[in-house]
Amino acid sequence: MSSTEATTAQSFADLGLSASLLKTLTDIGYETPSPIQAECIPILLQGRDLIGQAQTGTGKTAAFALPLMEQIDVKVTRPQALVLTPTRELAIQVAEALQSYAKNLPGFHVLPIYGGQSYTIQLKQLARGAHIVVGTPGRVMDHIERKTLNLDHLKTMVLDEADEMLRMGFIDDVEWILERTPAQHQTALFSATMPEQIRRVAQKYLVEPREIKIKSATTTVAAIRQVYWQVSGMHKLDALTRILEVEDNFDAAIIFVRTKNATVELADKLSARGYAAAALNGDLNQQMRERVIEQLKSGALDIVVATDVAARGIDVPRVSHVVNYDIPYDTEAYVHRIGRTGRAGRTGNAILFVAPREVSMLRSIERATRSPIAPLTLPSRADVTNKRVTDFKASVAEVLNAEGLDFFSNIVSQIAEEQNVSAEEVAAALAMMLQKGKPLQIPGEDPAPPRPMPAGDGRRPGGFGERERKPRTEERGDNRPRFDDRAGKPRFEGGGDSRPRFEDKPRRAVTASSEMIRYRIDVGRDHGVQVKDIVGAIANEAGIESRFIGRIGLYDESSTVELPAGMPAEAANALKRTRVRGVPINMRPDEGRPDDGGERKFDGERKFKKKPATH
Ligand code: AMP
Repeated sequence: MSSTEATTAQSFADLGLSASLLKTLTDIGYETPSPIQAECIPILLQGRDLIGQAQTGTGKTAAFALPLMEQIDVKVTRPQALVLTPTRELAIQVAEALQSYAKNLPGFHVLPIYGGQSYTIQLKQLARGAHIVVGTPGRVMDHIERKTLNLDHLKTMVLDEADEMLRMGFIDDVEWILERTPAQHQTALFSATMPEQIRRVAQKYLVEPREIKIKSATTTVAAIRQVYWQVSGMHKLDALTRILEVEDNFDAAIIFVRTKNATVELADKLSARGYAAAALNGDLNQQMRERVIEQLKSGALDIVVATDVAARGIDVPRVSHVVNYDIPYDTEAYVHRIGRTGRAGRTGNAILFVAPREVSMLRSIERATRSPIAPLTLPSRADVTNKRVTDFKASVAEVLNAEGLDFFSNIVSQIAEEQNVSAEEVAAALAMMLQKGKPLQIPGEDPAPPRPMPAGDGRRPGGFGERERKPRTEERGDNRPRFDDRAGKPRFEGGGDSRPRFEDKPRRAVTASSEMIRYRIDVGRDHGVQVKDIVGAIANEAGIESRFIGRIGLYDESSTVELPAGMPAEAANALKRTRVRGVPINMRPDEGRPDDGGERKFDGERKFKKKPATH
């Protein structure tokens, strides 16, 4: 395997993509390829096998998705590419990305298939013909076995987040699928880390793969205050305005986003909220670009929303803040971005927004810059109100110090007399009138504080399938039920005797009041099954948030698992057919001996995840 570090920033046109795809990229606002894309795209276009070591946030999806799009012959309505992902959320995201790159490819059809979704729908969609299938290993296996997924026309196979599939106990399934793909095909494997087992899979199934890593050379950053906000419970735009409003020493900001479309969108939204904001992107000619920078310098603008390339080299001393609204692709980009503040000996502030699934990128940045980035507590409504009241008082004080208030004092006295109220009441009424455009109190509720982020690379030891990929709902900032992380407590698994093993603690959300039903499944230690395999399969196949999965007892030939009462029939059916390590689990209510400490009641309605829309 030859290995290269991705560093280059070329243009998409240099990478060998077709004119139609280049147009699509312009339409969706991509300006330049990310480093991993610049390296991977030409290799994949040549038809070579590839190992890409990259995590979420590097642009790895487009790195394989764009070459896939080039290979698709829409006239052939058979799957020509298969992408395996560890979770249904990722399957949906990848399918959405592929669909967005197919803007100029009429008739293109991508199909996500994953557990928990009705077979009827999937069978119908498969029969209709999909050009690319994106799926979780269990369900893909199932369709191959039922002969409803035919891989005869397969040209490319992508393993996305291979290490995560390993962690979730799907690696045997992945190999089972790889064994059944046509001999002649290209394989791309993407993984944030390269554990030994993934290397082994790569050696066995990939042919002379090129290996691409994103660069994470150690760099030093200037003395800039660096903080991050974990995106949760609130839309990024609302969070941004709250943060900027209470930041001390705010003077001007550069806000970084990924696409040129996003620069315009965000600048418009900020302008609508009263900020003097403008977009800076690659569509602006040199003269327009210089004008924006001049306005930022002079104070005519306070916020510039920019892409990496457009903001390169900006030197405006009054930029007190850099906001990484979208996380950068790599450490290098981060260092360039934050170098736009703290100039000319002034204090600089860098704020980074991190979605839960991007936590490993945050940790890479910290490691590479050798500087910790502290969590930022989102200002509360009270904080914002206090700040607004303080500012209001200051502006009133300023006017009080000014000359020529007699005329107005006179009016206040007249109003007080006519209305038979005190001057204080008149002042209150005037204050109320004044703040109408921008109320001193902000409406709405404070979101619940985010769950603490894991340390290290974002993957807790001993956990099972702690997905960094969260459903899209999380990034949109709402509070709907979601696939979630779980306690990650040590479990007693394996062992040589025939007594059952139980996890030492139920998962967080299963409370003493949860009504749980115990089920038996036909896989156990003799099948080499571990607790994480069972949890991964159930979470993926039945759409049950793993924190709602109760205790799991591992026996030699079978196991028990507790699930909340009230499981929908569809989920129950899916679980009957689920396989763990290739063995059908045949889940049914357990009527055997009681082997736990009694029943628990369930306390909420949030145990079964709403099915995502099909595509
Ligand atoms: P990923 O690392 O694949 O999860 O991608 C993260 C985000 O970056 C997605 O929202 C992509 O749409 C976006 N993205 C990927 N490549 C580019 C690019 N070259 N320019 C702008 N945005 C991109």
